[in-house]
Amino acid sequence: MTNCLFCRIIAGDLPAKKVYEDEHTFAFEDIHPQAPTHVLVVPKKHIRGLKEASPEDAEVIGRCHLVAAQIARQRAVENGYRTVLNIGPGAGQSVFHLHVHLLGGRSLAWPPG
Ligand code: AMP
Ligand code: ZN
Repeated sequence: MTNCLFCRIIAGDLPAKKVYEDEHTFAFEDIHPQAPTHVLVVPKKHIRGLKEASPEDAEVIGRCHLVAAQIARQRAVENGYRTVLNIGPGAGQSVFHLHVHLLGGRSLAWPPG
C-alpha cells in the first residue's frame, strides 16, 4: 500500500533505523521513543490493525512478538519489557499498519495509562 507509512518504510521508500528484517517481519526504532528501548515490529503484509486481522494472520502476528522477544534479549532488557498493540484511535493507534511496540530499559508502571 503506497499510502501507508509503514509499508513505505518496509519498501525502503522512507528512512528508518532498521533493527531486524526477515521474510515476514521488519523491525525499526520508533521515531519518538517512549523508553530507552522502543522498537516497532511489523508484519511485511499490510494488516490495518488487530481488529482487522484474520485467522491467516495469526502466524505473522506471533512472529512479530517472537522478534520482539529476540530484540529484548539482544538489548538485555529481559528484566522487564512490554509488547503493546494500540488498537483503535481511543487507545492511541495513530498508524494503521499493525505494529507491536517493544518497550524496555526503564521501569514500566501497571496499569498502563
Ligand atoms: P501507535 O500510536 O500505536 O499507532 O504507534 C505509532 C508509532 O509509530 C508511534 O510510537 C510513533 O512515534 C511511530 N512513528 C510514526 N512515524 C514513524 C516513523 N516515520 N518512523 C518510526 N516510527 C514512527
Ligand atoms: Zn502498511
